Amino acid sequence: MQIIRQKAALRALTETWRRAGETIGVVPTMGALHAGHLSLVAAARARTDHVIVTLFVNPRQFNNPEDLAKYPRTEESDAEKLAPFGIDLLYIPEPDEIYPEGFATTVSVSGVSDGLCGATRPGHFDGVATVVTKLLLQTDADRAFFGEKDYQQLQVVKRLATDLDLKTEIVGCPTIREDDGLAMSSRNLRLGAGPRETAPVIGRVLTTAAKAIARGENPAQALDTAREALLSAGFDSIDYLELRSDPDFQLMTKADRPARLFLAAWLDGVRLIDNVAVAGRQKVESSEDQPFEPA
Ligand code: AMP
Repeated sequence: MQIIRQKAALRALTETWRRAGETIGVVPTMGALHAGHLSLVAAARARTDHVIVTLFVNPRQFNNPEDLAKYPRTEESDAEKLAPFGIDLLYIPEPDEIYPEGFATTVSVSGVSDGLCGATRPGHFDGVATVVTKLLLQTDADRAFFGEKDYQQLQVVKRLATDLDLKTEIVGCPTIREDDGLAMSSRNLRLGAGPRETAPVIGRVLTTAAKAIARGENPAQALDTAREALLSAGFDSIDYLELRSDPDFQLMTKADRPARLFLAAWLDGVRLIDNVAVAGRQKVESSEDQPFEPA
């Protein structure tokens, strides 16, 4: 596995692959790799001839300077974790390879970016959309792999790829969890021992609420119960806990079409996010309700 830090060197390599008619997959990350990231790498390996993992802690997607400063940076161990996957390239661009002097362009996706993390982290999705567009173009990727853990981000990236006529196919991959149900995240490393024990409550509370809603319980009631359970377990505050349609993120008061529950909550000074699908029933005009199972 080569490590490349300059886009000119990256381009020289991707052009060689292109001339040979080979396909390129990319997995964009901010490092501090865990099994969630590595599942994307395995998916890319299975579906493309060459795999590039990018590692760039993108300052433009952090609305909070403290969060940026505290973001774990573990380049050496990241490279070690990737070694068994037989990928071609770890691209770790210098900041001015992404944002050279005079850089003045922002990719801004409306609609799917509006609520949830878009509302609670102003500017976040502009930062994500801008860097992802650049990374997809720089790597010349045929396919790019993103986790459903960041479900809104996945929809933002799908939207920009369609709207900007990028040739890259955006592939969503399932959320990987710890044995106790906590969604893997680089931010979990920042939880103290006690809060780390508390954190899996998120997974349990979301699953319970999703099942209650699927059984027909009033979503507002199920969300209130979930909120109380989180706060009494020790979460400091909740940025949002909402039922939204999938994939267009309309707020829902009843689960009559494919839906997901979305949560962002603070524990021990760390912001954790998660989401789960809600199985439900949708109306079919001429017959009884038909069950649907979202992917
Ligand atoms: P990040 O390094 O946090 O920016 O994440 C890079 C990519 O890994 C994004 O596409 C994330 O959605 C994905 N990812 C992060 N955590 C997980 C997880 N637990 N399961 C699956 N994908 C994940």
